[in-house]
Amino acid sequence: MEYEKVIGLEVHMRIKSKTKMFCSCKNALELASTPNINICPICMWFPWMLPLLNKEVVRLWVIWWLLMKCKVNKKSRFDRKSYFYPDLPNSFQITQLYEPIVWKWSVKVLVDSKEKSFDIHHMHLENDAGKLSHAGAQTICDYNRSWSPLMEIVTEPVFWCKKEVMEFLKELQKMFRAAWVSDADMEKGQLRCDVNVSIRPKWSIKLWNRTEMKNLNSFSAIWRAIDSEAKRQIKILEKWWTINQETRWWNDEKWISSTQRSKEDAMDYRYFPEPDLMPIILDDEFIEECKRKLPELPIEKRLRYLNKYNLKEDEARLLTSDKNLSDYFEKLLNFTKDPARSCSYITTILLALIKESEDINSVKELRFDIEQLAKVIKYVKNDELSSTNSKQVIEELFNNWGKTDIIIEENNLRQKNDLWTLETIVEEVIKNNSKQVDDYKWGNERIFGFFIWQCMKVSKWQWNPKIFWKILKDKLG
Ligand code: ADP
Ligand code: MG
Ligand code: ZN
Repeated sequence: MEYEKVIGLEVHMRIKSKTKMFCSCKNALELASTPNINICPICMWFPWMLPLLNKEVVRLWVIWWLLMKCKVNKKSRFDRKSYFYPDLPNSFQITQLYEPIVWKWSVKVLVDSKEKSFDIHHMHLENDAGKLSHAGAQTICDYNRSWSPLMEIVTEPVFWCKKEVMEFLKELQKMFRAAWVSDADMEKGQLRCDVNVSIRPKWSIKLWNRTEMKNLNSFSAIWRAIDSEAKRQIKILEKWWTINQETRWWNDEKWISSTQRSKEDAMDYRYFPEPDLMPIILDDEFIEECKRKLPELPIEKRLRYLNKYNLKEDEARLLTSDKNLSDYFEKLLNFTKDPARSCSYITTILLALIKESEDINSVKELRFDIEQLAKVIKYVKNDELSSTNSKQVIEELFNNWGKTDIIIEENNLRQKNDLWTLETIVEEVIKNNSKQVDDYKWGNERIFGFFIWQCMKVSKWQWNPKIFWKILKDKLG
């Protein structure tokens, strides 16, 4: 018999607000190295503490749907979902069941160069739980990320293969990053996914029993889990047994899943409207305010770099491929007002250094002040520093920070424009190349570059070619 897979996803994305969802603790976008440093009596739900919705979360959320052009519910509200688990200090999660922030939507994705549209059942806001780490017989409860804001996107069962799932998730990830609502980095737990899988014979139109694998946190784990679960279910169906509707735990070290709990004895979450929070009612004024803060999409930025800054296509593509990089470029440009040089110093010198470096992986981690780099560019522009020496200065900044001026002075790198020395060099070059000088005097103007080249060579590329040009013109007439 031929079977087909049916897959539905529940995607959790950590919203990148500065503070948590209902208190003013730092929203730890990555888990801090010390457990329980970003907590307070509110997110620990001590007696008499009350939650207060963070407006930035709502703003980021609105920016997201404005960019994605989905239809939003201007009124939504929170529900309380009660269950006990040690990662949940208050024994309930604040989520949205009955009136989520978005119903019904779809995302367009290219799969094998064909456009496909995948339906979204709904999207809602909820708070994250803490993290439990098990070490032997002990368990560490770390509540740093407890009450961090999450956006959950629940799809319809609309994926027929794992490739569609991958393309969909990658597209979502790109959209989150473009909207600047989340870095959606799977390794840092900012994007997690529950995968629901069922199998049915090809002739069937109804959906068959499914299983759910929770909190998969890498693309490859999702890939493997779907494969393994589909094979397991086919084996069961081939024996004419039925699939238990259950939650399974995926072990990504052994590549096998095991029963966690059956859906039949699913908990009663006792959902009820959250009594301590008002509904969210978005007024037009707030939406307008969000519209003004709408970030530029990567494609718009690329066009701006091409048209306004006259960068080349591949340079514009490279700089806009990563928001940190384009931010860095624009910051540098603010100081230098020189798009071409700013771009080339970043893309050729800095990125090469970063590529080689073991501890610095992005422009965000650079330890020197951006003004120091701007200074290097300014000196090159004013012929006070040769481009060869500028590389040396940047390398020094990169490795040992410091100040541009001090590095230049200490290493004696300032372009020497001392006329007397320069004239001696020019005279020497003229003397040693009398044949070419004759040629030039007989009208071969093209040979002029040769003299400049020779002067630069004699001076070991330390000096300013423009000044050589002037002296040569004077001397050769
Ligand atoms: P639960 O609370 O059990 O997780 P939800 O309705 O919240 O139930 O989640 C349903 C998820 O499972 C959705 O992502 C949906 O697309 C998916 N799903 C539902 N039925 C099937 C099925 N037969 N096969 C695969 N996925 C399914
Ligand atoms: Mg589920
Ligand atoms: Zn707190």
